[in-house]
Amino acid sequence: MRVVELEARLVRVALRRKVTHASHTRTETDNVVVRCKLSDGSTGYGEGVPRDYVTGETIDFSLDLLKRSNLARQLEPDCTDFVQAVHLAEKLKLEPQPNDDRGILGNAARCAIELAVLDAYGRAFGEPLSRVTELIAPELYQFRDRVQYSGVIGNPRGWKKHVYPLVYRLAGFTQVKLKVGIEGQDDIKRTRTIRRWLGRKMDLRVDANEAWTPESAAARIADLEPFNITSVEQPVRHEEVSGLADVRKRVRAPIMLDESLCGIIDAERAARGGWCDLFNIRLSKCGGFTPSVRLAQFAKAHNLGYQLGCQVGETAILSAAGRHFASSVRDIRYLEGSYDRHLVWEALSKDDLTFRRNGTAPALVGSGLGFALDPARLDWLTKRKEALIG
Ligand SMILES: [Mg+2]
Repeated sequence: MRVVELEARLVRVALRRKVTHASHTRTETDNVVVRCKLSDGSTGYGEGVPRDYVTGETIDFSLDLLKRSNLARQLEPDCTDFVQAVHLAEKLKLEPQPNDDRGILGNAARCAIELAVLDAYGRAFGEPLSRVTELIAPELYQFRDRVQYSGVIGNPRGWKKHVYPLVYRLAGFTQVKLKVGIEGQDDIKRTRTIRRWLGRKMDLRVDANEAWTPESAAARIADLEPFNITSVEQPVRHEEVSGLADVRKRVRAPIMLDESLCGIIDAERAARGGWCDLFNIRLSKCGGFTPSVRLAQFAKAHNLGYQLGCQVGETAILSAAGRHFASSVRDIRYLEGSYDRHLVWEALSKDDLTFRRNGTAPALVGSGLGFALDPARLDWLTKRKEALIG
């Protein structure tokens, strides 16, 4: 069996509400969606969400990079079983870029292509995506038939400041992430209010989205520690990430890297420099499913923890892929994703993958990504198409 058609699309997804954090505000997102068809007719889909302020990619860059990367040759070999297909997918390499010493330019595009190939071959050979974890990292593999996602609180105003945390608490969520460092907001006051409405038992962590400096971060974090936060995500800008080694000595809360953790080179530097306690692994940012499993493997080997994060604006394709990761990789400290119905107008799926009222969701056990994409809805949102093979 081999790949006979490959096509990349620019898909424009409208968000249900304005999403704000310390570095950006958005109301829609341009995603790259790849469709991969095999010689037996099996069709798979993959998605990436390029963010220029994370991996330096724009949507046009992603599509052009896919065109330039000689995928026809890389995907030429025949695969006679899923193991071969997984190795083929893991080896996929996009054209190297100049001035990319972190090796991350093109990660969103790579994620889209890898997921499409794994989905197509998974469907052809009757294997779910979660099987990839078992194949490439058996020591990390632990299947769970149900996972529970975190609640996320951005920048609610007025009465919503009390209602959002209260809803999470009453609905039965066990983890909540609060965005801090937003200009004009008093983080101490906000965190105090939100902790009060969440109750004492809720696991609460914060994400500063690069808002602070290495000089101020320790004090900002110490201000929030009385509210029993369990970690602080990306306190400083990536350019100043080495300053976190010192910050970590001065605070109790574990530090998580997000914008500064996009690939294995980042991971090696962070471990060597003692910059963090936790990785925020996100499939699109980290280049796909197999590189993300490798990052979790690296974290484990270096006594670091990890969470699975997601992208604002991802459709059911990345939600489903995240579900497979979440239900097959052991010891994920925090879990984010599957906000579909709450965040996007059109998730592209026939079935709704959004988590249930308390944040829980079942593992997907069907072949490939394990859900049915709606091709008509995909066509409707497609703004540009590029044939890569066929
Ligand atoms: Mg973050």
